[in-house]
Amino acid sequence: MTTDVFSAALQRLDMGAAHANAHSETILRLRSPKQFIEVSIPVRMDDGSLRIFTGYRCKYDDTRGPAKGGIRFHEDVTPAEVKALAFWMTFKCACVGIPFGGGKGGVIVEPRTLSTAELERLSRGYMRAIAFAVGTDIDVPAPDVNTGPMIMAWMSDEYSVLTGRRDPGIITGKPVAVGGSLGRDDATARGGYYCLKELEKQLGWDRENTPRPVAIQGFGNAGDHMARLLDRDARFRVVAVSDHHGGRFNPDGLDITRLADHKEKTHKMLPASDCGRGTREISNKDLLELECDVLVPAAIENVITADNAARVKAKVVLELANGPCTPEADAILWKNKVIIIPDILANAGGVTVSYFEWTQNKTGYYWDLLRVHDELRRKMAAEFAGVFELAKSRAIDMRTAAYAHALARLAPALESTGTSRNYAKE
Ligand code: GLU
Repeated sequence: MTTDVFSAALQRLDMGAAHANAHSETILRLRSPKQFIEVSIPVRMDDGSLRIFTGYRCKYDDTRGPAKGGIRFHEDVTPAEVKALAFWMTFKCACVGIPFGGGKGGVIVEPRTLSTAELERLSRGYMRAIAFAVGTDIDVPAPDVNTGPMIMAWMSDEYSVLTGRRDPGIITGKPVAVGGSLGRDDATARGGYYCLKELEKQLGWDRENTPRPVAIQGFGNAGDHMARLLDRDARFRVVAVSDHHGGRFNPDGLDITRLADHKEKTHKMLPASDCGRGTREISNKDLLELECDVLVPAAIENVITADNAARVKAKVVLELANGPCTPEADAILWKNKVIIIPDILANAGGVTVSYFEWTQNKTGYYWDLLRVHDELRRKMAAEFAGVFELAKSRAIDMRTAAYAHALARLAPALESTGTSRNYAKE
C-alpha cells in the first residue's frame, strides 16, 4: 500500500521510462527535485497576535525552461505533496510541449479561517519569503487549490515593491486588469473538455445521440467550469456534483447554472430541496461509485484508491485534479477497462493558458479570447492524439503513455546537458 504521495508519483516515472528512450541517468536525475525551500511566514493577525505559517516552494526541474507551477493554500500541505505536485508539473509541461520545467508551492493554512486582510498579509509574506527563488525566467508561480487571481495580484504587487519594477511575467493567473490572460479562468476545465471531445471521437460516442451522464467531484475552479462547459454540450448530462461537504445528484441532470451561480455567490451548495424535482443529496464516496459514463475527479489527490476503484462504474475517468488515482487504483481500473485521461494531460489546460499569459506579458501584446480558445484547443487535441496513439500502439494505459510522451521531450533536454554516454569509451 502506497502512503507517500511523492513515492507514488515516482512509480509513474518508472512505468513511463519502460516505454521511452531515456538514459538511466536521466531517470535518476528526475527522481529528486533540484531545489526545495521551506520558509516561515510571520503574519500579524487582526486581533493583534502574531502567527507563524510554514510555506514551501519546490523547483523540481528547469532544464526545458523556467520552473512553473501553482501555490496551494491548504491545511494538509506537506513537503512530500509539494514535491509530488512539482514533479507532476515537470511532466505536465513536457507532456503538452510548453517550454517550462516544473515547480510548486504551498502554505499550511486553512484559508477559510482567515479574514481577507489576513489572507493578503499571508500572501504578501509568502512572496517576500520566496522572492529570492522565483522570477520570470527562473520559476513562475500561479494559482492552485484555494488560491486565485486576487492572491496572484497581491503577490505580483509585493514582488514589484521588492524589486522596484513591474514584471507581470513573474506570476500567472493574475486578474486581466493587471496583465492576466483572457480565458485563464476556465482554462483547466476547458483543456480537459477538449480532451474529452477528442476521446469521444475515438470511442465513436459522437455518432450516438443519447447524452452521456457525468459525475463531477469538486465544485471549485476546475469542477465548476467543467460542469458549465458540459452543461452547454448536448452530448453530456451532468448528473452529480459535490464539494468537500457533499453533493447533489439527479439522474435526469442537474440545473448547473443555478447550482454554480449559488456556489459562486455563497460558497455553499444549493440545498437539494431547491434544486428541482428528483434531486437528492449524495456523499463524495457514493458520487465516485455512481452509474455514469464519465467521472471527473476535480478536487484533491488520492480519492480513487485500492479501496474503491473496483466499484467505479464510469467508462472514462477524466482527471482534472492532480493525482486523484493511486497506482493501485490505476491497476484495478485498467483491469476493468476504464479509460483514464491522466492528470498531466487532462488538466494541462491551466498551465497552457498560463504559458499564453507569460508570452503575452513578455511581448506586451494581448490576445483576444477567440485566439486563446483556438490555440488551447489545437494544443490539447494534438497532444491528446500523441498520447492516445502511443497508448494504442503499445497496448498501455494512457497515463504510462503520457509519461513516455513527456519523457520523449524531457530526456533529450536533460541528456544534452551530459550523461555517461559522453564519457563512454569508444
Ligand atoms: N495549479 C495548476 C496546475 O496544477 C496551474 C499551474 C500553472 O498555471 O502554472 O496545473
